[in-house]
Amino acid sequence: MAEHSKADTTRRNFMMAAGSSLVAATAAGAAPLAPPDRQPPKLTLPGPKPKKMGWAIVGLGKLALEEVLPAFSVSEKCVPVALVSGHPEKAKKVADRYGIDPKNIYDYQAFDQIAQNKAVDVVYIILPNSMHAEYTIRGVRAGKHVLCEKPMAASVAECEQMIAAATQADRKLMIANRIGYEPLNRAAFDMAHKKEFGAVRMIESSNVQNVQAPNIRLSKKLAGGPVGDVGIYCIQAARYALNEDPIEVFGQAFSNPADERFREVPETVVFTMRFPSGVLANCGVSFSGEPSRRYRVFCEKGWIEMNPSFSYRGLRLYTGNEKSSQEHLLTAANHFALEMDHFAECIENNKTPRTPGEEGLRDMRVVEAIMESVAAGKPVRIGASA
Ligand code: NDP
Repeated sequence: MAEHSKADTTRRNFMMAAGSSLVAATAAGAAPLAPPDRQPPKLTLPGPKPKKMGWAIVGLGKLALEEVLPAFSVSEKCVPVALVSGHPEKAKKVADRYGIDPKNIYDYQAFDQIAQNKAVDVVYIILPNSMHAEYTIRGVRAGKHVLCEKPMAASVAECEQMIAAATQADRKLMIANRIGYEPLNRAAFDMAHKKEFGAVRMIESSNVQNVQAPNIRLSKKLAGGPVGDVGIYCIQAARYALNEDPIEVFGQAFSNPADERFREVPETVVFTMRFPSGVLANCGVSFSGEPSRRYRVFCEKGWIEMNPSFSYRGLRLYTGNEKSSQEHLLTAANHFALEMDHFAECIENNKTPRTPGEEGLRDMRVVEAIMESVAAGKPVRIGASA
């Protein structure tokens, strides 16, 4: 065992040499490389954790349970503190899972009592569309800021009432227009604004999913239907890419008469939007096809495409021309945490959110005009004040 290879000897010699030079360096006052022989002169530690904003989740359906509540775990500024539900047993289980005090569970009748709950700063309305206006108005009157899911409401008139109620109560109102916060979509809109491929000539967008009954989306009474539900993403993609609102729309609908799901709302709607710059957008939405969510912004010298564009995860941004195309990568982020943190920051700093009630109203003017056009069978102008 006493035999050393030449390589070992060489290494030992090197280490001894290195050790002696370390001693020499320390003696001469130079800092040792590692480990540190002194503690840092000043400890740099983050300040105390800021208090997170308390949120009440109103309606414990699919979106609330599968996306919004889990998103709090990655939110920097928000914490769920209260639940509003028509199903107390479910609400208790959810409260237990998220460490919410069961005293902070309300049903819809008792919702206004949330006014006395100091732990709640914001209420997040995740109810059927027909209930958005009522619960937003009750929320702001209870002294809470409100984040309301899309579509903002069932009609333009309801949107106006919601905005007026928030103004009167001096509370902030934000509409959860997700793609206005998601980084890849924002990068796509930015490229269009900067005319990276020249001026926008045309936009094409579609949003298709296969909705199974029973579902709030299939109910007229609950303000379901594909245009407000999935079409609103196509409307927003075009509006945000152009920074304009459409001045005219033309919609056509089809429903398979043999399909029971489409007794109350259309199955498929195809619509065009004309913008003040002259750009036309061609969109298609359906509740009875393989999921597909995409848009392409056709420009003078290339195109910008998101596919998928409106999903919660796995979004992809491409640009290209006839000869080549490339994908653009950005770090993925949780859309719901982004929205909630943005709203919390606006409340903290008294700023207007990027998508306030007025944005939801703009979308709703378009949704309403498309449905009017479908019923009338001809194009519908959207008022100059829109
Ligand atoms: P769900 O049907 O899954 O949930 C709706 C919840 O509302 C129910 O679970 C129920 O909660 C409550 N509710 C109260 N009254 C009624 C009623 N009369 N009928 C049915 N439900 C009622 O819908 P989603 O979660 O899919 O959608 C909710 C909202 O979120 C919609 O406005 C939708 O447009 C929006 N949404 C937004 C998305 C986005 O990406 N931003 C994606 C998906 C939906 P409880 O049992 O607790 O009372």
